[in-house]
Amino acid sequence: MGKLDAFKEIVRANAPTSTLTWLRLGGPIEYLAEPRSEEELVGVLKACREDGVRARVLGDGSNLLVSDVGAPGLAIRLTAPVFCDIQIDAPCVVAGGGAKVGRLATATATAGLAGLEGLIGIPGTVGAGVALNASTNDASFEEYVESVRVAYFNGEIAELSKDDVVFGDGVSSLENAIVLSAKFRLTPENPEELAKRLQKIWIVRKQTTPDATEGCARMFKNPRGQRAADLIADAGFRGARIGGAVVSERNPNFVEASEGCASEDVKRLLNLIQTQARERVGVELERELKIW
Ligand SMILES: Cc1cc2nc3c(=O)[nH]c(=O)nc-3n(C[C@H](O)[C@H](O)[C@H](O)COP(=O)(O)OP(=O)(O)OC[C@H]3O[C@@H](n4cnc5c(N)ncnc54)[C@H](O)[C@@H]3O)c2cc1C
Repeated sequence: MGKLDAFKEIVRANAPTSTLTWLRLGGPIEYLAEPRSEEELVGVLKACREDGVRARVLGDGSNLLVSDVGAPGLAIRLTAPVFCDIQIDAPCVVAGGGAKVGRLATATATAGLAGLEGLIGIPGTVGAGVALNASTNDASFEEYVESVRVAYFNGEIAELSKDDVVFGDGVSSLENAIVLSAKFRLTPENPEELAKRLQKIWIVRKQTTPDATEGCARMFKNPRGQRAADLIADAGFRGARIGGAVVSERNPNFVEASEGCASEDVKRLLNLIQTQARERVGVELERELKIW
């Protein structure tokens, strides 16, 4: 491993990823690191640079497909408590990049701070949510974020204000960094009203997304003014299957991994839908699911 040898306690070689992604597919990653502090994280990033190992960051794996043969390089997971903290100082809240979006949404609503309850139902971590500017019909990360603390892959740490970041639909300029924490500015509101709103949004979400226990992922971004799910249904793909990869009946923008599914099945299904959507309904679907 070279310089990475110094981090043996927190770096595992040839680590399985199928237990770390929602699709539960794919081969091992060359190295998996779970740093216990920001200093250790910086040390690992610098060691990767010196050893010529590509570093990346893995959140909760809800938007990730790892190839059957596995992935090269080192994946960092922000699982240590120091990266998962949520600190409320009304009307602001600072959340660690490894904290779960659901926990942030409920914690802020309980504290009587409105805004992030609209993100309930988005699986995954705050870090990925901010970097990908994840959104629902009710809210987006971009709307409430005030500043972000990031680590660049060269080991530099920076504090960025919202104006330093370019946010787009399902994308941001933070995708080339590791979001360590984010500060949000919210609006004080009656906690009981917020709890009701949160519950309402949650019920609607449950009706429109597949059961998360099924092993699923969202496939494409919504094209401007349209829903990817409707386009996929219009192109005739509701319930379609390649190998073990199945287009969800409930929401056709989701792929479900049935028994025996391989990552390759998912890739082939995504490619087929993309081509057919272009030919049958004249729309260019952009992949949301990241592939390693
Ligand atoms: C059932 C279901 C429902 C979903 N609903 C929504 C929805 O309503 N709206 C929506 O926008 N998305 C939705 N998604 C997609 C997914 O949940 C989001 O993209 C989520 O933000 C991914 O978070 P994660 O921690 O699981 O990221 P991962 O899947 O682990 O990683 C995804 C990408 O983010 C990068 N990343 C991870 N952590 C960080 C970090 N700390 N800093 C920088 N980059 C990072 C990774 O390198 C990777 O490129 C849904 C997915 C599922 C399975």
